[in-house]
Amino acid sequence: MNKERKLIIAGNWKMNKTVAEALDLVHGLKLELSGVKEVDMVVCPPFTALSEVSKAILDSNIRLGAQNMSEHNVGAYTGEIAAVMLKEFSVRYVILGHSERRQYQKESDALISKKAHAVHAASLKPIICVGETLAEREDNQTEKVLETQARGSLAGLSKEQMAETILAYEPVWAIGTGKTATTAQAQDAHAFLRGLLGKMFDETVARRVRIQYGGSVKASNARELMSQPDVDGALVGGASLEARSFGDIIKNSI
Ligand code: PEP
Repeated sequence: MNKERKLIIAGNWKMNKTVAEALDLVHGLKLELSGVKEVDMVVCPPFTALSEVSKAILDSNIRLGAQNMSEHNVGAYTGEIAAVMLKEFSVRYVILGHSERRQYQKESDALISKKAHAVHAASLKPIICVGETLAEREDNQTEKVLETQARGSLAGLSKEQMAETILAYEPVWAIGTGKTATTAQAQDAHAFLRGLLGKMFDETVARRVRIQYGGSVKASNARELMSQPDVDGALVGGASLEARSFGDIIKNSI
């Protein structure tokens, strides 16, 4: 597939996989994906598996991401993980503002923006999630919600930092539900976000930023979604937990 931006497909394993299970999965992925150069491929295991997965993918084309990070660098923050700790395991990407964290941990746009600054300060790349609920979509609030979340979560980033940030459009109603946005719904939201980036930063930045789609992506819908001009990859939950299904999503997207 000939795209303006290189696709980036990331697997968000959420709170799944012991270390042994994580190693099984990455060994399978290495076999499935050894020849792939066209797509940036990222796995985001739970923190407890980062160390072993990091070693297992050292000689591969798969990169490592984390599912969250503290906005602080060090100190009395029980249960938190700092950038410097992630860097020990050669983590390159950090998912921020996933809807599950917005919902269960009550993460706000202001907090996500602080985390985004901490991620960039450590020369890591944030994957920042935005997306509307079903009630918001049905109430025709999708663009308003996306604009509020994007303006809040990306606040204060420089143009250079924004160009190295990945956005993920994840309609909450499509996450883990088996309901996927139609290609038109995905393209419309991505085009809206890119237009907004043009206003918030500039056209050059807007053209560089990669915007992933997330929400029940699977091998059977990946190709059509990735063929949309403003869809530059995927953030995959459930289907990233098996080597075959994640591998097929990537192969079908090329
Ligand atoms: C996600 O959690 O980011 C996600 C998109 O999950 P799923 O693919 O399972 O819908």
